[in-house]
Amino acid sequence: MFTPDHGFNQEYMQELNRALLIKLLRKEGICARTVLAKKSRLKQATVTNIINDFIEWGIVKEVGFLVGNKGRRSIGITLKNDEFGVIGIQLARKYFSVGVFDLSGNSVDQSKQEIGSAGTPKDTMKKISTEIRSFIEKHADRKMLAIGMAVPGPFSVKKGRIELMTGSSGWNDISIQDLLEEEFGLPVFLENDANCGALAQYWYNDEQYEKEVMVYIAAGAGIGAGIMNQGELVEGTLGMAGEIGHMSINFGGPRCACGNFGCLELYCSASAFVKEMNRVLKPAEDYTFAEAKELVKEGNPIAMEIYSNCCDKLGAGVVNVINAFNPAVVVIGDEMSHVSSKVMLERVKREVKIRVLPEVYENMIISMSVTKDSMLHGAAIVSLRDIFRDPKKYFSRE
Ligand SMILES: [Zn+2]
Repeated sequence: MFTPDHGFNQEYMQELNRALLIKLLRKEGICARTVLAKKSRLKQATVTNIINDFIEWGIVKEVGFLVGNKGRRSIGITLKNDEFGVIGIQLARKYFSVGVFDLSGNSVDQSKQEIGSAGTPKDTMKKISTEIRSFIEKHADRKMLAIGMAVPGPFSVKKGRIELMTGSSGWNDISIQDLLEEEFGLPVFLENDANCGALAQYWYNDEQYEKEVMVYIAAGAGIGAGIMNQGELVEGTLGMAGEIGHMSINFGGPRCACGNFGCLELYCSASAFVKEMNRVLKPAEDYTFAEAKELVKEGNPIAMEIYSNCCDKLGAGVVNVINAFNPAVVVIGDEMSHVSSKVMLERVKREVKIRVLPEVYENMIISMSVTKDSMLHGAAIVSLRDIFRDPKKYFSRE
C-alpha cells in the first residue's frame, strides 16, 4: 500500500479543496455556491470560505442570479477567464507554436513558425522569446501567470534540458527553463511533448479516464508516448518514460542515434516516412514532409503504400505499448496522423487485432486525436495544473 512520506495537515487539505473547486468552476462555467458544495461534497461553510478567498484574490467573480431548485435564486460564481492567461509553447523539430490560453484552457490566440534549417537552438529560442513578448503586449489586458512549454523527448525534467533531438544538435547545452524565467519573470514549466498531448486529452475527458490507464502517442518527427495512470503522468526516474520511439521492433535493425537498433521511429516517424518517399520515388529535389503528405492525399499509389507501411510499423509499436500498460484508451496524434487519420486508424487497429490477446483488444479503445494541436494545449495545461494545484501561490496578495 502507498504510504505518504508526510501527514495530511489542514493546509494540505485546504490546497486540495481549493484545487477541486477551481476544477468544478472550470467544468461548469458558472456555478452557485450550493451546487459547488453538492458536487464537491464539501460543507457549505467550507465552500463559502474558499470562495471568499478566491474573490479576495481576484480569481473568480460573482455573476447575476441563477435560478435553482424550487425557483430559489442564487449568485453564480465564475472564473475570471478574461483577466488572466497562460502562455503555451510547443517546440517541434521543424517548427514552434506559441499560444495564449485562458484559465479554463481555451485558446485565445496562437501562431506557428517554421524553424529554418540554418538556425541554431539559440536563434530558435530568440524567435520564441520575441513571439512570447509580442503576445504579452498584444494581450496586455490579461495578466499572464505562467509559461508552459512542450519539448520533444528524450527530455530530462530534472535538468530542464532536451537530452537528444534527432537531427538538431546543441539543445542539450541550453537550459530553456532558466532562460525563459529570467526573461519573463514568470514560472516556467517544461514537459515532454507527448506527455503534454496526454494531459490535453485528460483535461477534456477526465471523468472518462479517471480510473484508467490512457496513452497518447505522438507520431511526429519522432515517436513518443504520454502515459497517464489514474490522472497522473507516468514520468519515470528522469522523466523519460514513454520514449516508445526508441523501443526496438527489429533486433538486427539499423543503429539509432540513441544507441539501440531497429528503433520504432526509424520506421514510422515523419522523418522516416519522408526519407522512404525520397528513396523510392527519387524526385529531382527531395520532398519535404508537406509534399510527401500531399502525394498521399492525392492518392498516389506508391506514396499510399509507403504511408500504410509506416502505419503498420506504428501498429507494432502500439502492440508493445498495450502489452506493457494494458491501457483502456490509446489516442494517436501529431503530424503523421494528419496525413490520413482514416488509413492510420484502420492499419493500426488491424495490427493490434492480429497481435494482442482478444480479451485485451476487446476491452480497449484506439482512436485518433480530434484536436490538431493537443500538444500546444497540453503545454498551457501543464502550467494551469500548477496554478490550480496551488492558486494561493499565484493569486494571494499576502
Ligand atoms: Zn533509438
